[in-house]
Amino acid sequence: MRFATFSRTGAPEVGAVWPAEGLIRPLRDGPLAFSGDMSSLAESYEDLAVDLISRGPALKLSEVRLLAPIMTPRRNVFCVGKNYKEHAKEFSRSGFDASATEIPEVPIIFTKSTGSVVGPMADISSHSELTQSLDYEAELGVVIGRGGRGISREAALSHVWGYTIINDVTARDLQRRHQQWFIGKSLDTFCPMGPWIITADEIDPQRLDISCSVNEELRQHASTGDMIFDVATLIEVISKGITLRAADIIATGTPAGVGAGFKPPRFLKRGDVVSITIKQIGTLTNRVV
Ligand code: MG
Repeated sequence: MRFATFSRTGAPEVGAVWPAEGLIRPLRDGPLAFSGDMSSLAESYEDLAVDLISRGPALKLSEVRLLAPIMTPRRNVFCVGKNYKEHAKEFSRSGFDASATEIPEVPIIFTKSTGSVVGPMADISSHSELTQSLDYEAELGVVIGRGGRGISREAALSHVWGYTIINDVTARDLQRRHQQWFIGKSLDTFCPMGPWIITADEIDPQRLDISCSVNEELRQHASTGDMIFDVATLIEVISKGITLRAADIIATGTPAGVGAGFKPPRFLKRGDVVSITIKQIGTLTNRVV
């Protein structure tokens, strides 16, 4: 099942999406009469009679506006740095990496602010008064369902509700200057997310084809199987002393091919269109303004 947050004319609502048919079924109009947001759907999903969803009335997907599936996360987005070997190497060589080791021996965890989230087709602000090195990062996003602390690697994937696509937009100069990555990763509009969440039962998170193009030129292309620390390990590591909660989001790191990795670097500029595709999920497209 795929779930999107969308708007017809008024307030945001949640619907189940059938992309091939071009349909979306608003959950509040169907037999579930679910009127919560995506975070509360993630939280209550196990208790819902989700097989009823397909009986609800449908709208044309083309006639609604898709928003970020989780528009304002309850907490910062957990993120993983340098989680693909080839990207770790390119980033270390780029001159923007203030961290000590090239290939991390334990996951590098940082966060993005909740206010940086925007949806599919939303604009990414170039923040040109603040940064001259705006960069893209295609990432698989994990959405937690059942929370917990001390989650074992073996049990980890049973705590995942679904997956989405995240662009971990980064101001490289701010990332380097401030050493801690938070500011360079958290400017307004720096966390495009979407177009929807696919539930965990539908895909294997380590067998996904992920790619990113800028103005239709392919820049990143990898398999999520190339992650240094897989999704289960990330959940185990983060939850050791931090209780994960329903609707928490983990951006799992980006493969090689970011703008900073090119010689000379190829940073984003106004008018550029960034499209990230995870074949098994969909495509997230945003324009830099
Ligand atoms: Mg990243």
